[in-house]
Amino acid sequence: MLDFLNPIKGFGVTFRQMFRKVDTVQYPEEKRPTAPRFHGRHQLNRWPDGLEKCIGCELCAWACPADAIYVEGGDNTPDERYSPGERYGPVYQINYLRCILCGLCVEACPTRALTMTNDYELADDSRENLIWTKEQLLAPLQPGMESPPHPMRLGNTEEDYYRLGPSFAAAQSADVLGLLAGSADPAPADDGTDAADADQGGAAR
Ligand code: SF4
Ligand code: SF4
Repeated sequence: MLDFLNPIKGFGVTFRQMFRKVDTVQYPEEKRPTAPRFHGRHQLNRWPDGLEKCIGCELCAWACPADAIYVEGGDNTPDERYSPGERYGPVYQINYLRCILCGLCVEACPTRALTMTNDYELADDSRENLIWTKEQLLAPLQPGMESPPHPMRLGNTEEDYYRLGPSFAAAQSADVLGLLAGSADPAPADDGTDAADADQGGAAR
C-alpha cells in the first residue's frame, strides 16, 4: 500500500465512528446496573442470628497488595460475644485511597466474612472519609437478626453452630417466603422474626 494512502485510511476510521450510535450515559442522573460480579466496595457479613462472620484473623490484611486493610483481633467472652468462634474483629478498616478493588482479600478470608458489593460510588473530597470503618462495612441487620453482642443462637457449640447455620438460614428463608406469600392475603401479621443471611456471596464477589 502506498504511504500517501495511510492518512486517508486514518480519516476513514474517524468517518465511520461519526455514524455509530452514541453510548453516553448521563451519570449521575442515569445509573446503569453493573455486571453481577463487578468488584465494588466491601461488606462484612453476618450469620443468620446477627453474629459477625469476621474472626479477626488478619488474613485479608496480609493478602492485600496495597496494604489497605487494618484489622485488630479481640477475644469473645461468654458475656460479650460478637462472633461464633473464640475471636472477632473489634477494629476493621479499609482505606479506599489505597484499595484497587482487586478482590484478593475476599479470596483470603476463611469465613467468607468479607465480600464485595456492586456499590462503586466511593468518591469523596476528604481523606478521612475514605477510610471506612467496621461500622460502615458491616452488613445491615436483617429482620430476625440481633445486634451483637449476644450468645450463639444457632447451636451451643461451634460445631453445632456451623452445622445448623445453613439449615437455620434455609428455614428462615422459607418463613420469609411464606410471609411474603401470606401478605397477599389479609392474614394476621406475626412478630416479624424472619431472617435472611446478609452475605452477598455472589456479588463477591
Ligand atoms: S480489594 Fe485488593 S487492594 Fe482492596 S483491600 Fe482487598 S486486597 Fe486490598
Ligand atoms: S475479614 Fe476474613 S480474613 Fe479478614 S480478619 Fe475477618 S475473618 Fe479474617
